Amino acid sequence: MAKGRVEIDLVFCKGCGLCTDVCPASILKLDADTITQKGYHPAICVDEAACTGCATCALMCPDVAIAVFREVRA
Ligand code: SF4
Ligand code: SF4
Repeated sequence: MAKGRVEIDLVFCKGCGLCTDVCPASILKLDADTITQKGYHPAICVDEAACTGCATCALMCPDVAIAVFREVRA
């Protein structure tokens, strides 16, 4: 399984939680300790090592706030 990493853009994230619901690894949560400029609790990745890079979260996000990176092995 490919290893992955996500970056969540706090400018676009509206804390809807859709990505947290669909992540098969259950590693996306809404961050109760952070409030964005627009007043939302944004999604964060709580266990980067467990991300497979499947991109389900990015496909689900209605605000295109998630970028997914996959490790390329030579
Ligand atoms: S790329 Fe897949 S495993 Fe990684 S955070 Fe998104 S849904 Fe979860
Ligand atoms: S689906 Fe997008 S807008 Fe909704 S919480 Fe996740 S990153 Fe934020």
